Amino acid sequence: MAKKKAKKKTTRPKTKRASTVKKPPARLVELAPASISSAERDRAREVVRRLGKEYPGAGVMLNHRNPWQLLISTILAAQCTDAKVNEVTPELFKRFPTPKALAAADVRTLERIIHPTGFFRNKSKSIKNASRAIVERFGGKLPRTMEEMLTLPGVARKTANVVLTDALGVNSGVVVDTHNIRLSGRLGFVKTADPVEIERFWIAAAERKDWPVVGHLLYSHGQQVCGRKPRCGECVVSDLCPSRESS
Ligand code: SF4
Repeated sequence: MAKKKAKKKTTRPKTKRASTVKKPPARLVELAPASISSAERDRAREVVRRLGKEYPGAGVMLNHRNPWQLLISTILAAQCTDAKVNEVTPELFKRFPTPKALAAADVRTLERIIHPTGFFRNKSKSIKNASRAIVERFGGKLPRTMEEMLTLPGVARKTANVVLTDALGVNSGVVVDTHNIRLSGRLGFVKTADPVEIERFWIAAAERKDWPVVGHLLYSHGQQVCGRKPRCGECVVSDLCPSRESS
């Protein structure tokens, strides 16, 4: 009986198995601008221009001395006022002045210090773990890209945008907080409360040089005029707003 011809082994070029190929998570990709009309863009830019005149000093309200402190303060500011965060951070940064010190902190001590900011258990873990990641993966310094920022525990796009823009001078997006979400809806720019979609609107609408200030302007306007009960009679953009209430 004829011997079966041995199958010749072919050597394939070595490729990584699909499961081991690292794909960038969707949330890490730089956002694509939304598709908007030129009329919407012009109206949005006029809103930014007027709010810029109204709130010339708009900027980050969280006290900090370096990018890491701003990161920690911004994590603590979730569901909390900036003023309350500013009350607890002097003790926090005095006791734990560096990422290394905070990474090694006793969780109970952290919880006690940041208790007034609310959600103190989760926030303690986030600031400790973020600090540890900064020490272990970034040599104690904050990363300078959105992709790397988003790998830190407790850091989502809003926090990353605040730190990149206000502390590191990296202009990679627009901060979307609750004020931005509310105002963007009332001004009729979006029909969603999804922060990513709202950021996509603003990076399409605003000039890139204005991206760092858009979030601060909407925050100021939301705090001072367009809060839960809007004071449309005092609003400098009321003629541009489909939600204005006659008063
Ligand atoms: S007109 Fe009223 S609802 Fe519209 S942005 Fe101004 S305060 Fe807010």
